[in-house]
Amino acid sequence: MRSLDDLLAEGVSGRRVLLRADLNVPLDKQTRAITDDGRIRASLPTIAALRDAGARVVVAAHLGRPKGAPDPQYSLAPVAARLGELLGAEVPLAADVAGEDARARADALGDGDVLLLENVRFEAAETSKDDAERGELADRLAALADVYVDDAFGAVHRKHASVFDVAQRLPHVAGRLVATELDVLQRLTTDPDRPYVVVLGGSKVSDKLAVIEALLPKVDRLLVGGGMCFTFLAAQGHGVGRSLLEADQVDTCRRLLAEAGERIVLPVDVVVAPEFSADVETAVVAAEQIPDGQMGLDVGPRTVEAFGRELAGARTVFWNGPMGVFELAPFQAGTRGVAEAVAAVDGLSVVGGGDSAAAVRQLGLDEAAYGHISTGGGASLEYLEGRELPGLAVLAD
Ligand code: ADP
Ligand code: MG
Repeated sequence: MRSLDDLLAEGVSGRRVLLRADLNVPLDKQTRAITDDGRIRASLPTIAALRDAGARVVVAAHLGRPKGAPDPQYSLAPVAARLGELLGAEVPLAADVAGEDARARADALGDGDVLLLENVRFEAAETSKDDAERGELADRLAALADVYVDDAFGAVHRKHASVFDVAQRLPHVAGRLVATELDVLQRLTTDPDRPYVVVLGGSKVSDKLAVIEALLPKVDRLLVGGGMCFTFLAAQGHGVGRSLLEADQVDTCRRLLAEAGERIVLPVDVVVAPEFSADVETAVVAAEQIPDGQMGLDVGPRTVEAFGRELAGARTVFWNGPMGVFELAPFQAGTRGVAEAVAAVDGLSVVGGGDSAAAVRQLGLDEAAYGHISTGGGASLEYLEGRELPGLAVLAD
């Protein structure tokens, strides 16, 4: 796989570079203001390096899940504005993805200029299963530039036109963010320093069973919190009240518990409430005694202590998925406690997952205390599962 440095060494001054970036940031539902610009900031090193080298940078990115047609709600306009602020330069937004306006603006770029294309998912072809449909969009994208840089780590697990097909049409290299993410993931999968502790949380156990299967043989401890712990507790035969439960996954969880022995560590206590609300009455109960009618919405203080003890001795840690519904103040403590314990690890600490990374920032924790905060939830999980990621495979060619 060629790197950005290889490209810079070759010289990019005056050349048009199509940069696929991951600028898929969360927006406030009402105001459409960016609530967390982490992914824009993570894209800056590659964009700045290209500008400094005199490249004419055409950035392609997606935002949210528009239905394959222009939808002002998903316009990249707020992203163009924020990117411009962070770069200290004007970043115009094309009115289309790879149509007339994009072509005219790409042609007019000067050395060091940056143009943002409108949301690539405004074209249904971007995510199409049909190779020819994606290919037609990839042809138009490729015509905007002479070389392709993929820095959208959060999208490398997608076989999309702007991630996969366009790389087959232009000389291609991996951007700095993709290189950093890969380096960290390799350290998590190849001969990690031990003890190696993985903490998993988040809402859906079915999303994470594959990664549990893949990691279980490699880890010393797997700490399970978040909404997914209740399917494991149910697999142990406990009642979980009205907590999140994926009944069809109980058997798999039971098998994993049997295989893992003491390597899987479940919560010993849980914060429960009768409903999802910021001003509801909460209680801490033993994990095996969740009352009927109550929902487990965070791990309890004894669990934070127990997880903290496991993390304190670890040399390699990967954490994915909040421990509770951290968006609501009464259910933040578990995620905060684990986030602090992960930050204090003496070794490699990696945070993966959009919501986990957002939690770190929202809770006001110091991002610099972590070895790495991954920008790609799905992509990093699929990598850890050992799957081939189309966007990486095509760069390796
Ligand atoms: P990530 O994006 O970091 O991979 P996920 O998307 O898997 O994480 O899960 C994040 C979501 O999980 C959060 O919105 C959080 O509110 C939710 N969650 C965590 N614990 C619980 C719980 N006990 N019950 C319901 N939802 C939960
Ligand atoms: Mg998420």
